[in-house]
Amino acid sequence: MGNITRRDMLGRSSLLMASMGTGLPLTAANPEPAEAARKLKIVVVGGHPDDPESGCGGTIAHYAGEGHEVVIVYLTRGESGIKGKTMQEAAAIRSAEAGKACEILHARPIFAGQIDGHTELNPSLYEAFRKILDVENPDVVFTHWPIDTHRDHRVASLLTYDAWLTGGKKFDLYYFEVEQGEQTQIFQPTHYVDISTTLSRKQAACFAHASQHPETDFWPQHEAMNRFRGMECGVKNAEGFVRHCQNHGMDAPKRG
Ligand SMILES: [Zn+2]
Repeated sequence: MGNITRRDMLGRSSLLMASMGTGLPLTAANPEPAEAARKLKIVVVGGHPDDPESGCGGTIAHYAGEGHEVVIVYLTRGESGIKGKTMQEAAAIRSAEAGKACEILHARPIFAGQIDGHTELNPSLYEAFRKILDVENPDVVFTHWPIDTHRDHRVASLLTYDAWLTGGKKFDLYYFEVEQGEQTQIFQPTHYVDISTTLSRKQAACFAHASQHPETDFWPQHEAMNRFRGMECGVKNAEGFVRHCQNHGMDAPKRG
C-alpha cells in the first residue's frame, strides 16, 4: 500500500494523524506556514458533562494549547446523574463541574438545553441545534459515535450529524468514543491524536466531575483506552477518532 500524502489525509485542518492502513502514525511534522498559522474553531459535542472530557479531553487540551479555540457543547446538564439530588440540584452541581473542567482544558462551555435521560429528536430540535453550530461556525466538530448504549449519546451524535448534513458539510466531522465496549460499540479509529503530553490535564478535567466518581466509575476505563489507542498508533497515550469520509466533499483519503 502506497504512502498517503499529508494533504489528502488531513484535509484543511491538519489536526489529526492517521494510520489508514499503513500501520504507522503520520503526522504533520512540517506544516506549511499558512496551515501552521491558521487558528481553528473546534467544537466538541457531548451528551453530558464529562463526555467530551473523557472522550477527547487530551485532544482538546492539545489543540487549545496550540492556540485553537475550543467550544464544548453539552447537550444536557446531567440532571439525572446524582442520586439523592433533584434534577435542578444535580444540574447546578454538574454545570459547575463542567465549567471547572473547561477552565482546565481552556475551552468555553455551552449548554444546549436538553434534559439528561430525556433527550429527544424532532424537527424543531434538529433546527435549534443546527443554529447553535451555525453561530459557532466551527472548522472541526467532534461528537459521539452513534452506536452507543446511551440514548443521550446517540441523540447528541444524530443532532450533530444532521447539522453537518443540512448545513452543507461545512465543518470536518469526527466521532469519539466513551467507555468503549460498555457505551461506544464497534468503533475502530481511522485517526489518532497523541495525548501523551496532555493526559494529566485530561485527567484533571475528568476529575473535576467529582459527583460522577471518576476515580472508580470512568477514569480507569479511559486510561486503559488511551493506552490501547496509543499502542495502536505507536505512542504512549492516544485518543482515537473516526473521520467522516465526506468531509469537505472529499472521498476517502487518496493514496499518493
Ligand atoms: Zn454520557
